[in-house]
Amino acid sequence: MSGQEELHVAEAFASNFIAPVGPQLDAFEDSVRDYLGADIHCVAISSGSAALHLALRIAGVSKGDEVWISSMTFAGGIFPINYLGATPRFFDLNPSTWAIDTAILSDELAKAARSSNLPKAIVPTDLYGQSVDLDALEALAAQYNVRLIVDSAESIGATYLDGRKAGTGGDAAILSFNGNKIITTSGGGMFVTRHQEWADEARFLATQARDPAPHYEHSTFGYNYRLSNICAAIGLGQMKVLDARVGRRREIFERYEAAFAHRGIDFMPEPEGLHSTRWLTALTIDPAQTGVSREDIRLMLLEHQIESRPLWKPMHMQPLYAGAPYHGSGVDERLFENGLCLPSGSDMTDDQQNEVIERIANLLDSAN
Ligand SMILES: *Cc1c(COP(=O)(O)O)cnc(C)c1O
Repeated sequence: MSGQEELHVAEAFASNFIAPVGPQLDAFEDSVRDYLGADIHCVAISSGSAALHLALRIAGVSKGDEVWISSMTFAGGIFPINYLGATPRFFDLNPSTWAIDTAILSDELAKAARSSNLPKAIVPTDLYGQSVDLDALEALAAQYNVRLIVDSAESIGATYLDGRKAGTGGDAAILSFNGNKIITTSGGGMFVTRHQEWADEARFLATQARDPAPHYEHSTFGYNYRLSNICAAIGLGQMKVLDARVGRRREIFERYEAAFAHRGIDFMPEPEGLHSTRWLTALTIDPAQTGVSREDIRLMLLEHQIESRPLWKPMHMQPLYAGAPYHGSGVDERLFENGLCLPSGSDMTDDQQNEVIERIANLLDSAN
């Protein structure tokens, strides 16, 4: 927390807006919209997963449809497909960007178009705080008339080309303000869309689909998915420190990179012209070159009560999705096998980071 959140929460209490609507909620939506700086609409939602559920439903995804999606992501970015009775088709990453491989996607879209089997929506993930290739994806979505929903849960604060902000892509994008993200509302999300009708629909569905009438009238089913005014007040304080937090994450990444870049450790690439938040410092270890594995490093750190974590396990490797279709050459499988996220919290001190660096350096030294 930055210290500014409590002021906004106190304002919410003083005005007695504890309900899920109120001035702080409106102000939070405005502040995210102003930050994204695009001609865009924001609807604050109770979580990123809930925002994705709404986005898929509004895109028309229903039972029996396919959704094409990055395999390497967090479960919350996949499960909403199941909520709608649709099925995922998984795609590999491009090794030079760690974003969904648009060449593979393009080939498969061409094939699917020939057999009239196009997906209802494509959902690429901005991985570890870095934007996907929006130009290529938006061109493909337009060419095949398929809805594009960008999972920007990890990337608020990042920019794509020409300063375009992550979170402004596709027909809609979703953001997450879960506690583990770079800024948080304790739990929360945002539905972001360029279509006014989609924003209206999201607000309607997120508040139990109440038709205009003095009594409760429903012609479809909805959800209780609106963010609370109190959580939005926290978000107002967090938005003020977003850029500073991103700066700190990037600083942490750069210190790790300077320490290990020449030691058989590869860091997540940042494509030319893009600006990542470096939400987590993600890297891969080549055991043939270093003599140590990802697990050697992780377990050694754990012995000293330092938490690190393997990269996301690709969804096509999960028991839940065994047998699901997957297109790729296993770039994501190899990233999972050799990849590690190091401690990256914005409030980590230099001394704490130095300890992580020294312990890993010692392990690398002893293996040589
Ligand atoms: C965190 C996250 C989500 C889910 O957001 P919640 O707010 O936790 O529901 C979805 N996709 C990705 C890629 C995420 O990292």
